[in-house]
Amino acid sequence: MVKRIRRAAVLGSGVMGSGIAAHLANVGIPTLLLDIVPRELTKEEEAKGWTLEHKQVRNRLANQALERLLKQKPAPLMSKDNIALIETGNFEDDFHRLAEVDWIIEAVVEKLEVKKEVFARVDEVRTPGTIVSSNTSGISIAAMAEGRSDDFKKHFLGTHFFNPPRYLKLLEIIPTEHTDPDVVAYMKSFGEDVLGKGVVMAKDTPNFIANRIGTYGLLVTVREMMQGGYSVGEVDSVTGPLIGRPKSATFRTLDVVGLDTFVHVANNVYENVEGEEKEAFRVPEFMKTMLENGWLGSKSGQGFFVKQGKDILELNYVTMQYEPRKKLVTPAVEMAKQAKGAAAKLQTLVYADGDRAGTLLWNIIAPTLLYTARLVGEIADDIAAIDQAMKWGFGWEQGPFELWDAIGLEKSVRKMQSEGRDIPSWITDMLADGATSFYKTENGRLFYYAPGGYKTVEENEKVIHIRRLKEARGVIKKNAGASLIDLGDDVALLEFHSPNNAIGADIVQMINEALEEVNRNYKGLVIGNQGKNFCVGANLAMMLMEAQDENFFELELAVRQFQQALLKMKYNPKPVVVAPFAMTLGGGAEVSLAASRIQAAAETYIGLVEVGVGLIPGGGGNKELYIKRLNSLPRGVDVDYVKIAASVFETIAMAKVSTSAAEARELGFLNHRDGITMNGDHLLYEAKQAVLSMYEEGYRPPVRKKVPVAGESGYAAMLLGAQSMFHSGYISEHDLKIAKKLAYVLAGGKVPYGTEVDEQYLLDLEREAFLSLIGEPKTQARMQHMLVKGKPLRN
Ligand code: NAD
Repeated sequence: MVKRIRRAAVLGSGVMGSGIAAHLANVGIPTLLLDIVPRELTKEEEAKGWTLEHKQVRNRLANQALERLLKQKPAPLMSKDNIALIETGNFEDDFHRLAEVDWIIEAVVEKLEVKKEVFARVDEVRTPGTIVSSNTSGISIAAMAEGRSDDFKKHFLGTHFFNPPRYLKLLEIIPTEHTDPDVVAYMKSFGEDVLGKGVVMAKDTPNFIANRIGTYGLLVTVREMMQGGYSVGEVDSVTGPLIGRPKSATFRTLDVVGLDTFVHVANNVYENVEGEEKEAFRVPEFMKTMLENGWLGSKSGQGFFVKQGKDILELNYVTMQYEPRKKLVTPAVEMAKQAKGAAAKLQTLVYADGDRAGTLLWNIIAPTLLYTARLVGEIADDIAAIDQAMKWGFGWEQGPFELWDAIGLEKSVRKMQSEGRDIPSWITDMLADGATSFYKTENGRLFYYAPGGYKTVEENEKVIHIRRLKEARGVIKKNAGASLIDLGDDVALLEFHSPNNAIGADIVQMINEALEEVNRNYKGLVIGNQGKNFCVGANLAMMLMEAQDENFFELELAVRQFQQALLKMKYNPKPVVVAPFAMTLGGGAEVSLAASRIQAAAETYIGLVEVGVGLIPGGGGNKELYIKRLNSLPRGVDVDYVKIAASVFETIAMAKVSTSAAEARELGFLNHRDGITMNGDHLLYEAKQAVLSMYEEGYRPPVRKKVPVAGESGYAAMLLGAQSMFHSGYISEHDLKIAKKLAYVLAGGKVPYGTEVDEQYLLDLEREAFLSLIGEPKTQARMQHMLVKGKPLRN
């Protein structure tokens, strides 16, 4: 039996060690964070009269790491409270305490001798059965375990997190020949289910999977840039979203990672491989000069780019001077931007012979694909693992083999051959066998090519793909904004798929139809999707158009219908579980608040942000957040409605958005019955399980009760704060007007304190306030600004 991980220790509290400790704390695992004992006192320590023996001095490194965790952006901690789960210590006084933990993760400097020394000491103190792993970026795992005890070796493996550990999905797991297969299997499921990572099994080769290919691709890009005389800015303008990669493209990414880290990683391959491949990993001279100059990127203030005033300048690698940033604008780029879908965009580019952007991209992509193909078997067992690693580790929309399918395997290989490029024999054999793509789907299942025939892509049983489900089973109902799908086990799924998943009349209609269908034929409903964000709110453009045309009758009807659909959902006889993730704003938050239960992804950014566009929530969000906070109070205590209303007022008036599901709970969007799913890919599965368990427990919808409100005294209290902010110049007159409307709605209007009102009355107040605001020119200006600029306007 493999030991379950209940406590952990992280050795080394640097960038990665502290980030890993924070993530362990995020999932509720108490973690000991150790670092070396300083050999010198700082000035502050001397001034305090401390000696090197003082506990605070001895734990200084880990303590400082803890302080950094609270300040870092984006936040490594999902809730600041999680910091309490991390205990700091040092390698001398606390090393024996490693005997108390179930998993020891090493994240010290990237030097084999140092790591070996650390593991020799770990071997002496660990309890047999304790899992030990290294977070190395690329040093041989087997070499680190040399000389260790058998029990150590059985429980030792590589666990390679990417920076920052909370946000980057990839976790490469690297077993050695001695690692117990049960330990490997346990760590894989622990990584996926508990830590929420995308686990890829890698082989013990230099830099494992993602960094091996990523570094190669980057150095090829630099080489082609230099040979073709392109500029740094030009390369970035075509190697980002245009080809399905992050906005930071090539060199901005490098600036963020840090050139020193990159060169270290590249050198590791350079030193460990031979021949032609070795040359590919040689870092060009100008990058070495950058390193000597300390131009490392963001951390040193300049790198491939530098900010000068408002402008961003790019490095000219010939003159080593910074100059205005350039972009590649060519016919192929323009055509690719117009093309629909990733495959069409890529094909437009890579086959555009003679086009400056097309030529560059082909010359980067072709060798990278071929290099990757040559490594199958050596760095990973199959192509699916490599694709996953590149997507999860680098945020690429497609892995190399998926991209290869997208540009057409046969056509691209013909082009490669015509240029005299060396094609790996398994690919020519594959084509000779008539297999013309690396992937295919059949009956909702995905297969990848492997010599000898296609094999099923093995995935965690909790991963559900809506697209494949639809391919296999079709949809129950569908309109332009949403589809109703059979999730299996008598649970249905309502998927939003309008642009940005914004809520319009079509989605509202589908909510109603979904409830009817579910009540007839299913055990319950999940509302979820697999877009970029759960839902960014209501369809702002549509509302603005109606408001500018003074179609207030239509607007009032639309708001009323949305309110009624959510009210119906709240009291639906069958359970409805909403599964928000990423941005869940405005109407998206209101849909969530109306659920029988929320099952949120750990990375959920939820908020009622209508104030930013000069409105207040109009779909029952004010009322539901207020009721949810009321209901979360322990029974029998004296409730102060003014206090509750004021806290909801603050959340909505300041358009607070949670930075995680844990924080959403602190803000009252989630309560103790709502669930949090660490792994976003498991969200629909867990939402479905929530529906099933509620059904099994004999689900009863909430009883419709009157709502006690704060009334006039609450209104006065909420207003007081807003007025003082107005008088001290923090908010504008229009902000004050919005605040007054919001306070009025949350107070339940001009009624005595404690009056019990019907929900419909609260919805009417909310709708009136919403409609009066949307008629205001300043609100319309805010909406317009948000639509055009994507940012709130202060007016
Ligand atoms: P870092 O420099 O931020 O931290 C290194 C830690 O090692 C520090 O806490 C330091 O005090 C400690 N240390 C220094 N000398 C030591 C010694 N002699 N004995 C024991 N500890 C010592 O480095 P990092 O970026 O956090 O990297 C840590 C590990 O994670 C390395 O193996 C690195 O390759 C790997 N890694 C880094 C990244 C990244 O992006 N930074 C990503 C993945 C993996």
